[in-house]
Amino acid sequence: MQNYSALSLFRRALGGHAGWQRQWRSPEPKAEYDVVIVGAGGHGLACAYYLAKQHGITNVAVVERGWLGGGNTGRNTTIIRSNYLFDESAALYEHALKLWEGLSQDLNYNVMYSPRGVLMLAHNIHDVQSFRRHVHANRLNGIDNEWLTTEECKEFCPALNIGSGMRYPILGGALQRRGGTARHDAVAWGYARGADARGVDIIENCEVTGIRRGPGGAVEGVETSRGFIRTKKVGVSAAGHTSVVMDRAGVRLPLESYPLQALVSEPVKPAFPCVVMSNTIHAYISQSDKGEMVIGAGTDAYTSYSQRGALHITTHTLDAICELVPMFRRLRMLRNWGGIVDVTPDRSPIIAKTPVPGLYVNCGWGTGGFKATPGAGHVFAWTIARDEPHPINAPFTIERFRDGVLIDEAAAAAVAH
Ligand SMILES: Cc1cc2nc3c(=O)[nH]c(=O)nc-3n(C[C@H](O)[C@H](O)[C@H](O)COP(=O)(O)OP(=O)(O)OC[C@H]3O[C@@H](n4cnc5c(N)ncnc54)[C@H](O)[C@@H]3O)c2cc1C
Repeated sequence: MQNYSALSLFRRALGGHAGWQRQWRSPEPKAEYDVVIVGAGGHGLACAYYLAKQHGITNVAVVERGWLGGGNTGRNTTIIRSNYLFDESAALYEHALKLWEGLSQDLNYNVMYSPRGVLMLAHNIHDVQSFRRHVHANRLNGIDNEWLTTEECKEFCPALNIGSGMRYPILGGALQRRGGTARHDAVAWGYARGADARGVDIIENCEVTGIRRGPGGAVEGVETSRGFIRTKKVGVSAAGHTSVVMDRAGVRLPLESYPLQALVSEPVKPAFPCVVMSNTIHAYISQSDKGEMVIGAGTDAYTSYSQRGALHITTHTLDAICELVPMFRRLRMLRNWGGIVDVTPDRSPIIAKTPVPGLYVNCGWGTGGFKATPGAGHVFAWTIARDEPHPINAPFTIERFRDGVLIDEAAAAAVAH
Protein backbone atom coordinates (compact mmCIF):
# COMPACT_ATOMS: atom_id res chain seq x y z
CA MET A 1 0.00 0.00 0.00
CA GLN A 2 1.39 3.41 -0.90
CA ASN A 3 2.25 5.46 2.15
CA TYR A 4 1.04 9.03 2.59
CA SER A 5 3.58 11.35 4.22
CA ALA A 6 5.15 14.76 3.65
CA LEU A 7 8.13 12.99 2.07
CA SER A 8 6.02 10.90 -0.33
CA LEU A 9 4.06 14.03 -1.30
CA PHE A 10 7.33 15.82 -2.05
CA ARG A 11 8.69 12.88 -4.08
CA ARG A 12 5.50 12.56 -6.17
CA ALA A 13 5.46 16.32 -6.73
CA LEU A 14 8.91 16.03 -8.32
CA GLY A 15 7.47 13.39 -10.67
CA GLY A 16 4.50 15.58 -11.64
CA HIS A 17 2.17 13.56 -9.37
CA ALA A 18 2.12 10.81 -12.00
CA GLY A 19 2.94 7.88 -9.71
CA TRP A 20 -0.05 7.76 -7.33
CA GLN A 21 -1.88 4.42 -7.25
CA ARG A 22 -5.65 4.02 -7.21
CA GLN A 23 -6.82 3.91 -3.60
CA TRP A 24 -8.71 0.65 -4.02
CA ARG A 25 -9.30 -1.88 -6.80
CA SER A 26 -12.56 -2.54 -8.61
CA PRO A 27 -12.57 -6.36 -8.69
CA GLU A 28 -15.07 -8.78 -10.20
CA PRO A 29 -16.83 -10.84 -7.51
CA LYS A 30 -15.26 -14.26 -6.85
CA ALA A 31 -17.41 -17.39 -6.61
CA GLU A 32 -16.80 -17.79 -2.87
CA TYR A 33 -15.63 -15.79 0.17
CA ASP A 34 -15.14 -16.60 3.85
CA VAL A 35 -17.27 -13.56 4.77
CA VAL A 36 -19.58 -11.29 2.75
CA ILE A 37 -20.47 -7.89 4.22
CA VAL A 38 -23.60 -6.22 2.83
CA GLY A 39 -23.18 -2.44 2.58
CA ALA A 40 -20.05 -0.37 1.90
CA GLY A 41 -20.86 2.40 4.34
CA GLY A 42 -18.40 3.31 7.08
CA HIS A 43 -19.64 0.47 9.31
CA GLY A 44 -19.33 -2.27 6.67
CA LEU A 45 -15.92 -1.06 5.50
CA ALA A 46 -14.61 -0.70 9.06
CA CYS A 47 -15.79 -4.24 9.82
CA ALA A 48 -13.96 -5.58 6.75
CA TYR A 49 -10.82 -3.66 7.73
CA TYR A 50 -10.78 -5.09 11.28
CA LEU A 51 -11.64 -8.62 10.03
CA ALA A 52 -8.50 -8.46 7.90
CA LYS A 53 -6.26 -6.54 10.27
CA GLN A 54 -7.15 -8.04 13.64
CA HIS A 55 -8.54 -11.48 12.82
CA GLY A 56 -6.49 -12.37 9.74
CA ILE A 57 -9.66 -13.00 7.68
CA THR A 58 -8.86 -11.48 4.30
CA ASN A 59 -11.02 -13.53 1.92
CA VAL A 60 -13.82 -10.99 2.39
CA ALA A 61 -16.16 -9.17 0.00
CA VAL A 62 -18.01 -5.95 0.79
CA VAL A 63 -20.93 -5.72 -1.62
CA GLU A 64 -22.57 -2.37 -2.20
CA ARG A 65 -25.64 -1.69 -4.32
CA GLY A 66 -24.60 1.90 -5.08
CA TRP A 67 -21.25 3.56 -4.58
CA LEU A 68 -18.94 3.30 -1.61
CA GLY A 69 -19.92 5.76 1.15
CA GLY A 70 -23.02 6.91 -0.75
CA GLY A 71 -25.47 5.98 2.04
CA ASN A 72 -25.81 7.68 5.41
CA THR A 73 -22.02 7.73 5.77
CA GLY A 74 -21.86 10.40 3.06
CA ARG A 75 -25.01 12.21 4.20
CA ASN A 76 -24.59 12.82 7.90
CA THR A 77 -23.55 15.86 9.92
CA THR A 78 -20.51 14.04 11.36
CA ILE A 79 -21.01 14.73 15.06
CA ILE A 80 -18.87 12.56 17.33
CA ARG A 81 -19.38 12.21 21.08
CA SER A 82 -19.59 9.48 23.69
CA ASN A 83 -21.60 11.11 26.52
CA TYR A 84 -24.54 8.66 26.45
CA LEU A 85 -26.40 7.90 29.67
CA PHE A 86 -26.39 4.16 30.20
CA ASP A 87 -23.25 2.18 31.00
CA GLU A 88 -23.69 -0.11 27.98
CA SER A 89 -23.97 2.81 25.53
CA ALA A 90 -21.23 4.82 27.18
CA ALA A 91 -18.85 1.83 26.85
CA LEU A 92 -19.71 1.37 23.17
CA TYR A 93 -19.41 5.02 22.13
CA GLU A 94 -16.32 5.60 24.26
CA HIS A 95 -14.70 2.56 22.61
CA ALA A 96 -15.36 4.31 19.28
CA LEU A 97 -14.12 7.70 20.52
CA LYS A 98 -10.81 6.17 21.65
CA LEU A 99 -10.41 4.65 18.17
CA TRP A 100 -11.22 8.03 16.54
CA GLU A 101 -8.35 9.58 18.47
CA GLY A 102 -5.78 7.41 16.68
CA LEU A 103 -7.66 6.63 13.46
CA SER A 104 -5.77 8.89 11.02
CA GLN A 105 -2.48 7.32 12.16
CA ASP A 106 -3.88 3.78 12.10
CA LEU A 107 -5.24 4.18 8.54
CA ASN A 108 -2.42 6.46 7.33
CA TYR A 109 -5.29 8.59 6.02
CA ASN A 110 -6.37 11.95 7.37
CA VAL A 111 -9.96 11.54 8.57
CA MET A 112 -9.84 15.11 9.89
CA TYR A 113 -11.07 14.20 13.37
CA SER A 114 -11.54 17.56 15.06
CA PRO A 115 -12.23 17.43 18.82
CA ARG A 116 -13.59 20.97 19.01
CA GLY A 117 -16.16 20.18 21.73
CA VAL A 118 -19.85 19.29 21.56
CA LEU A 119 -22.15 21.56 23.57
CA MET A 120 -25.68 20.26 24.23
CA LEU A 121 -28.01 23.11 25.15
CA ALA A 122 -30.67 22.92 27.85
CA HIS A 123 -33.83 24.98 27.24
CA ASN A 124 -36.14 23.85 30.06
CA ILE A 125 -36.01 22.28 33.50
CA HIS A 126 -36.31 18.77 32.09
CA ASP A 127 -33.24 19.36 29.88
CA VAL A 128 -31.25 20.74 32.82
CA GLN A 129 -32.05 17.77 35.06
CA SER A 130 -31.48 15.25 32.29
CA PHE A 131 -28.12 16.69 31.17
CA ARG A 132 -26.86 17.03 34.73
CA ARG A 133 -27.70 13.38 35.24
CA HIS A 134 -25.73 12.60 32.08
CA VAL A 135 -22.73 14.57 33.39
CA HIS A 136 -22.72 12.59 36.66
CA ALA A 137 -23.25 9.22 34.94
CA ASN A 138 -20.51 9.96 32.40
CA ARG A 139 -18.03 10.93 35.08
CA LEU A 140 -18.70 7.68 36.93
CA ASN A 141 -17.76 5.94 33.68
CA GLY A 142 -14.58 7.99 33.31
CA ILE A 143 -16.02 9.94 30.34
CA ASP A 144 -15.50 13.71 30.14
CA ASN A 145 -18.66 15.82 30.33
CA GLU A 146 -19.18 19.05 32.24
CA TRP A 147 -22.03 21.40 33.07
CA LEU A 148 -21.79 25.00 31.80
CA THR A 149 -23.91 27.90 33.03
CA THR A 150 -25.66 30.17 30.52
CA GLU A 151 -22.78 32.65 30.57
CA GLU A 152 -20.20 29.87 30.21
CA CYS A 153 -22.11 28.57 27.16
CA LYS A 154 -21.87 32.05 25.61
CA GLU A 155 -18.16 32.21 26.41
CA PHE A 156 -17.59 28.82 24.76
CA CYS A 157 -19.71 29.67 21.70
CA PRO A 158 -19.92 33.48 21.31
CA ALA A 159 -22.47 33.30 18.47
CA LEU A 160 -25.20 32.06 20.84
CA ASN A 161 -28.05 34.38 21.84
CA ILE A 162 -28.56 34.24 25.61
CA GLY A 163 -30.96 37.21 25.71
CA SER A 164 -34.21 37.17 27.68
CA GLY A 165 -37.69 36.59 26.28
CA MET A 166 -36.61 33.81 23.99
CA ARG A 167 -38.91 30.98 23.04
CA TYR A 168 -36.01 28.56 23.66
CA PRO A 169 -33.94 30.22 26.41
CA ILE A 170 -30.47 28.76 27.08
CA LEU A 171 -30.48 27.60 30.71
CA GLY A 172 -27.04 25.97 30.50
CA GLY A 173 -25.41 23.15 28.61
CA ALA A 174 -23.45 19.90 28.84
CA LEU A 175 -20.05 20.07 27.17
CA GLN A 176 -17.95 17.12 26.04
CA ARG A 177 -14.63 18.68 25.05
CA ARG A 178 -13.33 15.50 23.33
CA GLY A 179 -16.42 15.44 21.09
CA GLY A 180 -16.31 17.03 17.66
CA THR A 181 -16.47 16.10 14.00
CA ALA A 182 -14.58 14.13 11.32
CA ARG A 183 -14.67 14.17 7.52
CA HIS A 184 -17.26 11.51 6.62
CA ASP A 185 -16.00 10.68 3.10
CA ALA A 186 -12.44 10.33 4.33
CA VAL A 187 -13.58 7.81 6.93
CA ALA A 188 -15.16 5.60 4.25
CA TRP A 189 -12.23 6.05 1.87
CA GLY A 190 -9.60 5.43 4.57
CA TYR A 191 -11.24 2.19 5.70
CA ALA A 192 -11.79 1.11 2.07
CA ARG A 193 -8.15 1.70 1.22
CA GLY A 194 -6.93 -0.14 4.33
CA ALA A 195 -9.26 -3.11 3.74
CA ASP A 196 -8.44 -3.32 0.03
CA ALA A 197 -4.71 -3.32 0.74
CA ARG A 198 -5.21 -6.36 2.98
CA GLY A 199 -7.01 -8.30 0.22
CA VAL A 200 -10.68 -7.40 0.81
CA ASP A 201 -12.73 -7.10 -2.42
CA ILE A 202 -15.00 -4.04 -2.44
CA ILE A 203 -17.68 -4.61 -5.08
CA GLU A 204 -19.77 -1.57 -5.96
CA ASN A 205 -22.98 -1.56 -8.06
CA CYS A 206 -23.80 -5.00 -6.67
CA GLU A 207 -27.15 -5.27 -4.91
CA VAL A 208 -27.91 -8.19 -2.60
CA THR A 209 -31.27 -9.48 -3.77
CA GLY A 210 -31.48 -12.64 -1.69
CA ILE A 211 -29.81 -14.57 1.15
CA ARG A 212 -29.74 -18.29 0.39
CA ARG A 213 -30.11 -20.74 3.29
CA GLY A 214 -29.40 -24.48 3.29
CA PRO A 215 -31.67 -27.32 4.45
CA GLY A 216 -30.53 -26.85 8.08
CA GLY A 217 -31.31 -23.11 7.88
CA ALA A 218 -27.69 -21.91 7.83
CA VAL A 219 -26.46 -19.29 5.38
CA GLU A 220 -25.10 -20.65 2.07
CA GLY A 221 -24.52 -17.42 0.18
CA VAL A 222 -25.99 -14.24 -1.24
CA GLU A 223 -27.87 -13.68 -4.50
CA THR A 224 -26.72 -10.42 -6.06
CA SER A 225 -27.36 -8.39 -9.17
CA ARG A 226 -23.97 -9.70 -10.33
CA GLY A 227 -24.63 -13.37 -9.60
CA PHE A 228 -24.58 -15.79 -6.67
CA ILE A 229 -21.70 -15.56 -4.17
CA ARG A 230 -21.13 -18.58 -1.92
CA THR A 231 -20.25 -17.91 1.75
CA LYS A 232 -20.96 -19.33 5.18
CA LYS A 233 -20.96 -15.93 6.91
CA VAL A 234 -22.92 -12.82 5.98
CA GLY A 235 -22.69 -9.56 7.97
CA VAL A 236 -25.43 -7.02 7.21
CA SER A 237 -24.57 -3.31 7.68
CA ALA A 238 -27.23 -1.77 5.45
CA ALA A 239 -28.52 1.06 7.72
CA GLY A 240 -31.96 2.29 6.55
CA HIS A 241 -32.47 -0.77 4.33
CA THR A 242 -31.60 -3.40 6.95
CA SER A 243 -35.19 -4.64 7.29
CA VAL A 244 -35.38 -5.16 3.51
CA VAL A 245 -32.12 -7.14 3.40
CA MET A 246 -32.90 -9.21 6.52
CA ASP A 247 -36.35 -10.01 5.17
CA ARG A 248 -34.56 -11.79 2.33
CA ALA A 249 -33.27 -14.28 4.91
CA GLY A 250 -36.68 -14.52 6.57
CA VAL A 251 -35.65 -12.49 9.65
CA ARG A 252 -37.91 -9.71 10.96
CA LEU A 253 -36.37 -6.99 13.12
CA PRO A 254 -37.94 -4.31 15.34
CA LEU A 255 -36.84 -1.47 13.05
CA GLU A 256 -38.58 1.50 11.46
CA SER A 257 -37.00 3.52 8.64
CA TYR A 258 -37.41 7.30 8.50
CA PRO A 259 -35.99 10.10 6.35
CA LEU A 260 -33.58 12.39 8.22
CA GLN A 261 -32.45 15.66 6.68
CA ALA A 262 -29.46 17.98 6.75
CA LEU A 263 -28.48 21.16 4.95
CA VAL A 264 -25.48 23.44 4.44
CA SER A 265 -25.15 27.19 4.05
CA GLU A 266 -22.93 29.18 1.75
CA PRO A 267 -19.32 29.21 3.03
CA VAL A 268 -18.34 32.02 5.41
CA LYS A 269 -15.26 32.89 7.47
CA PRO A 270 -14.67 30.88 10.69
CA ALA A 271 -17.53 32.00 12.95
CA PHE A 272 -18.69 28.91 14.80
CA PRO A 273 -15.90 27.31 16.84
CA CYS A 274 -17.63 24.21 18.20
CA VAL A 275 -20.53 21.82 17.70
CA VAL A 276 -23.83 22.91 19.23
CA MET A 277 -26.77 20.55 19.66
CA SER A 278 -30.25 21.25 20.89
CA ASN A 279 -32.40 18.21 21.48
CA THR A 280 -35.48 20.29 22.25
CA ILE A 281 -35.56 22.04 18.89
CA HIS A 282 -33.87 19.07 17.24
CA ALA A 283 -31.03 20.99 15.65
CA TYR A 284 -27.29 20.42 15.50
CA ILE A 285 -24.78 22.80 14.00
CA SER A 286 -21.08 22.91 13.14
CA GLN A 287 -18.92 24.74 10.61
CA SER A 288 -17.07 22.69 8.01
CA ASP A 289 -13.47 23.34 7.01
CA LYS A 290 -14.79 24.87 3.78
CA GLY A 291 -16.74 27.39 5.89
CA GLU A 292 -20.26 26.05 5.34
CA MET A 293 -22.58 25.85 8.34
CA VAL A 294 -23.65 22.20 8.53
CA ILE A 295 -27.11 21.85 10.04
CA GLY A 296 -29.03 18.73 10.91
CA ALA A 297 -32.78 18.56 11.35
CA GLY A 298 -35.16 15.98 12.77
CA THR A 299 -36.66 12.81 11.35
CA ASP A 300 -39.98 12.89 9.51
CA ALA A 301 -43.01 11.83 11.51
CA TYR A 302 -43.79 9.00 9.07
CA THR A 303 -41.80 5.98 7.93
CA SER A 304 -40.56 6.19 4.34
CA TYR A 305 -37.75 5.16 1.99
CA SER A 306 -38.06 8.35 -0.08
CA GLN A 307 -34.64 9.76 0.89
CA ARG A 308 -36.06 13.30 0.97
CA GLY A 309 -37.77 14.68 4.03
CA ALA A 310 -40.69 17.07 4.53
CA LEU A 311 -40.02 20.81 4.11
CA HIS A 312 -41.68 21.82 7.37
CA ILE A 313 -39.13 19.75 9.34
CA THR A 314 -36.22 21.87 8.11
CA THR A 315 -38.10 25.19 8.30
CA HIS A 316 -39.01 24.47 11.92
CA THR A 317 -35.35 23.77 12.71
CA LEU A 318 -34.17 26.90 10.91
CA ASP A 319 -36.76 29.09 12.70
CA ALA A 320 -35.44 27.93 16.05
CA ILE A 321 -31.77 28.20 14.99
CA CYS A 322 -32.26 31.79 13.82
CA GLU A 323 -33.43 32.67 17.32
CA LEU A 324 -30.59 30.78 19.01
CA VAL A 325 -27.89 32.10 16.65
CA PRO A 326 -29.17 35.37 15.16
CA MET A 327 -26.31 35.77 12.66
CA PHE A 328 -27.70 32.73 10.79
CA ARG A 329 -30.58 34.92 9.55
CA ARG A 330 -28.16 36.45 7.06
CA LEU A 331 -26.94 33.10 5.65
CA ARG A 332 -28.24 31.56 2.45
CA MET A 333 -28.74 27.83 2.47
CA LEU A 334 -27.05 26.08 -0.46
CA ARG A 335 -28.08 22.42 -0.42
CA ASN A 336 -30.25 20.02 1.52
CA TRP A 337 -30.57 16.24 1.34
CA GLY A 338 -31.89 13.26 3.24
CA GLY A 339 -30.82 9.81 4.34
CA ILE A 340 -32.85 6.84 5.55
CA VAL A 341 -32.18 5.96 9.16
CA ASP A 342 -33.10 2.68 10.88
CA VAL A 343 -34.60 3.27 14.32
CA THR A 344 -35.11 0.72 17.11
CA PRO A 345 -37.72 1.07 19.88
CA ASP A 346 -35.06 1.99 22.48
CA ARG A 347 -32.91 4.08 20.06
CA SER A 348 -29.90 1.82 20.71
CA PRO A 349 -28.28 -0.31 18.02
CA ILE A 350 -28.30 -4.06 17.43
CA ILE A 351 -24.86 -5.64 16.86
CA ALA A 352 -25.43 -9.33 17.12
CA LYS A 353 -25.75 -12.87 15.87
CA THR A 354 -29.20 -13.65 14.51
CA PRO A 355 -31.33 -16.81 14.84
CA VAL A 356 -29.98 -17.83 11.41
CA PRO A 357 -26.58 -19.59 11.70
CA GLY A 358 -23.95 -17.57 9.80
CA LEU A 359 -26.04 -14.37 9.63
CA TYR A 360 -24.95 -11.34 11.66
CA VAL A 361 -26.45 -7.85 11.83
CA ASN A 362 -25.22 -4.38 12.74
CA CYS A 363 -28.10 -1.91 12.56
CA GLY A 364 -30.49 0.36 14.44
CA TRP A 365 -28.05 3.27 14.61
CA GLY A 366 -30.85 5.63 13.72
CA THR A 367 -29.78 9.25 13.69
CA GLY A 368 -26.46 8.72 15.47
CA GLY A 369 -24.26 5.96 14.09
CA PHE A 370 -21.51 7.93 12.38
CA LYS A 371 -19.78 8.58 15.69
CA ALA A 372 -19.74 4.85 16.35
CA THR A 373 -18.18 3.84 13.01
CA PRO A 374 -14.75 2.62 14.24
CA GLY A 375 -16.12 1.00 17.42
CA ALA A 376 -19.07 -0.66 15.70
CA GLY A 377 -16.87 -1.99 12.89
CA HIS A 378 -14.39 -3.29 15.44
CA VAL A 379 -16.85 -5.22 17.62
CA PHE A 380 -18.89 -6.42 14.63
CA ALA A 381 -15.73 -7.92 13.10
CA TRP A 382 -15.03 -9.68 16.42
CA THR A 383 -18.61 -11.05 16.51
CA ILE A 384 -18.35 -12.43 12.97
CA ALA A 385 -14.82 -13.80 13.33
CA ARG A 386 -15.45 -15.58 16.66
CA ASP A 387 -19.15 -16.28 16.27
CA GLU A 388 -19.71 -14.65 19.65
CA PRO A 389 -20.12 -11.02 20.74
CA HIS A 390 -17.33 -8.85 22.05
CA PRO A 391 -18.07 -7.94 25.72
CA ILE A 392 -18.88 -4.37 24.59
CA ASN A 393 -21.64 -5.38 22.15
CA ALA A 394 -22.94 -8.32 24.19
CA PRO A 395 -25.92 -6.27 25.55
CA PHE A 396 -26.93 -5.04 22.08
CA THR A 397 -28.87 -8.17 21.11
CA ILE A 398 -32.11 -8.64 19.18
CA GLU A 399 -33.51 -10.63 22.10
CA ARG A 400 -33.51 -7.59 24.42
CA PHE A 401 -36.75 -6.46 22.77
CA ARG A 402 -38.35 -9.81 23.65
CA ASP A 403 -36.88 -9.97 27.15
CA GLY A 404 -37.36 -6.29 28.03
CA VAL A 405 -33.68 -5.65 28.76
CA LEU A 406 -33.76 -2.34 26.89
CA ILE A 407 -30.99 0.24 26.72
CA ASP A 408 -33.40 3.13 26.53
CA GLU A 409 -31.41 6.10 25.26
CA ALA A 410 -34.65 7.48 23.77
CA ALA A 411 -36.14 7.92 27.20
CA ALA A 412 -32.81 9.24 28.46
CA ALA A 413 -32.23 11.96 25.90
CA ALA A 414 -35.24 12.14 23.57
CA VAL A 415 -32.84 12.14 20.66
CA ALA A 416 -29.69 10.15 19.95
CA HIS A 417 -27.54 12.09 17.47
C1 LIG B 1 -28.97 13.71 7.70
C2 LIG B 1 -28.26 12.78 8.65
C3 LIG B 1 -27.51 13.31 9.69
C4 LIG B 1 -26.84 12.48 10.57
N1 LIG B 1 -26.04 13.03 11.52
C5 LIG B 1 -25.29 12.23 12.32
C6 LIG B 1 -24.36 12.81 13.22
O1 LIG B 1 -24.18 14.03 13.28
N2 LIG B 1 -23.63 11.97 14.02
C7 LIG B 1 -23.80 10.63 13.97
O2 LIG B 1 -23.14 9.94 14.76
N3 LIG B 1 -24.64 10.04 13.09
C8 LIG B 1 -25.39 10.81 12.26
N4 LIG B 1 -26.25 10.24 11.35
C9 LIG B 1 -26.41 8.78 11.31
C10 LIG B 1 -25.28 8.13 10.56
O3 LIG B 1 -25.13 8.73 9.29
C11 LIG B 1 -25.53 6.64 10.36
O4 LIG B 1 -25.95 6.04 11.58
C12 LIG B 1 -24.27 5.92 9.91
O5 LIG B 1 -23.64 6.64 8.88
C13 LIG B 1 -24.61 4.54 9.45
O6 LIG B 1 -23.48 4.00 8.79
P1 LIG B 1 -23.62 2.67 7.96
O7 LIG B 1 -22.29 2.37 7.38
O8 LIG B 1 -24.29 1.65 8.80
O9 LIG B 1 -24.71 3.05 6.85
P2 LIG B 1 -24.60 3.56 5.34
O10 LIG B 1 -23.49 4.53 5.14
O11 LIG B 1 -25.98 4.00 4.95
O12 LIG B 1 -24.21 2.25 4.57
C14 LIG B 1 -25.15 1.21 4.28
C15 LIG B 1 -24.93 0.81 2.85
O13 LIG B 1 -25.70 -0.35 2.57
C16 LIG B 1 -26.03 -0.30 1.19
N5 LIG B 1 -27.12 -1.23 0.92
C17 LIG B 1 -28.41 -1.16 1.32
N6 LIG B 1 -29.10 -2.19 0.84
C18 LIG B 1 -28.22 -2.95 0.12
C19 LIG B 1 -28.35 -4.15 -0.64
N7 LIG B 1 -29.52 -4.81 -0.76
N8 LIG B 1 -27.25 -4.64 -1.25
C20 LIG B 1 -26.05 -4.01 -1.15
N9 LIG B 1 -25.89 -2.86 -0.45
C21 LIG B 1 -26.97 -2.35 0.18
C22 LIG B 1 -26.41 1.17 1.00
O14 LIG B 1 -26.36 1.54 -0.37
C23 LIG B 1 -25.39 1.89 1.85
O15 LIG B 1 -24.27 2.36 1.12
C24 LIG B 1 -26.95 11.06 10.44
C25 LIG B 1 -27.71 10.52 9.40
C26 LIG B 1 -28.35 11.36 8.49
C27 LIG B 1 -29.12 10.78 7.35
